[in-house]
Amino acid sequence: MKYLVYILKITNNQAPRYKRLEIVIWLLWFICILEFGLLVIFSYLTSIAIVILSILHMIGIRPFKIVKKDNPTDDLCRLVLEPADGEPVFEFQAGQFVMVRESNDSGTATYPRAFSIASAPCESASQIELGIKSQGSLSSTLCESSRGDKFNIQGPYGTFTLDKASDRLVFFAGGVGMTPFRSHVRESLLTELNQQIVLFYSGQTVCDLMYHAEFSELAVKYPNFKYVPITTRECAKDWPGECQRLNQEMFDKYIADPSLWNYMMCGPQAMMDNVRELLLARDVDVETRLRFERY
Ligand SMILES: Cc1cc2nc3c(=O)[nH]c(=O)nc-3n(C[C@H](O)[C@H](O)[C@H](O)COP(=O)(O)OP(=O)(O)OC[C@H]3O[C@@H](n4cnc5c(N)ncnc54)[C@H](O)[C@@H]3O)c2cc1C
Repeated sequence: MKYLVYILKITNNQAPRYKRLEIVIWLLWFICILEFGLLVIFSYLTSIAIVILSILHMIGIRPFKIVKKDNPTDDLCRLVLEPADGEPVFEFQAGQFVMVRESNDSGTATYPRAFSIASAPCESASQIELGIKSQGSLSSTLCESSRGDKFNIQGPYGTFTLDKASDRLVFFAGGVGMTPFRSHVRESLLTELNQQIVLFYSGQTVCDLMYHAEFSELAVKYPNFKYVPITTRECAKDWPGECQRLNQEMFDKYIADPSLWNYMMCGPQAMMDNVRELLLARDVDVETRLRFERY
């Protein structure tokens, strides 16, 4: 109370001039301390933000936005994404995958899922493509997303990469397990590695073969690429491929000398077990000549 009266006196010009000067200095000091405190808090928060961003950058989580999307069927979609930070896409090898996380409203990441990069490294430094089958939470969210939607992407990962040293490659792809092979095929053909490639691409119906038209065109353009589409639950009129599950007869029809080739497979477990048996029956050393990716 005494202090309040004192301040009132000073502010009412009832105090000597040096006293008023004293209160002005005190006020300035108070403002400086307050500003200093705010500055400390501000630098503390920005340091935390910088550390978090650096950690995210170090572990490679980056926001990507969808720039193109199409849904060939109700449960399949193809997404083209580019980095939302304006930087180029990370370097990757054909056949590698990324971890995708949904960004929630506060910008923090939710649980991740793996998706193979379906485009080839040689194609673009600013975009990647994913081929997705909508089957659960994140894959459905991705297939229902729109242009401009953002997802956090981390990667690349994986060793299911194109064997550039091999001159004869056979790929067995089942359903959406084709995505790493799209990257392999495009990288090999577009960079003219001159590899002999045979692609067996199997689905229940033609609609399940989401890159069927594209592979058909590539097979016409590149004589070193043989494309064998397989449908197991329908047989379209004038179908250029096979209409039954992959079997020994079919394998022998396309692969004359099995010991000269290297093999890769990705698809449903039953298909992969089947391929393994076919190769073993033709004395292929599956330990050294067969590689696989399990989804
Ligand atoms: C290396 C690698 C690469 C991959 N690349 C691709 C790719 O290119 N494209 C692609 O589409 N996928 C790919 N996958 C698979 C992908 O990572 C996911 O596993 C897949 O998309 C399912 O994830 P989700 O979050 O959508 O499903 P989740 O929600 O995790 O569901 C997983 C499974 O459980 C079933 N399920 C979920 N909820 C229920 C319920 N309540 N009752 C019964 N069943 C339920 C779903 O049908 C689904 O089959 C890859 C996986 C790996 C390991």
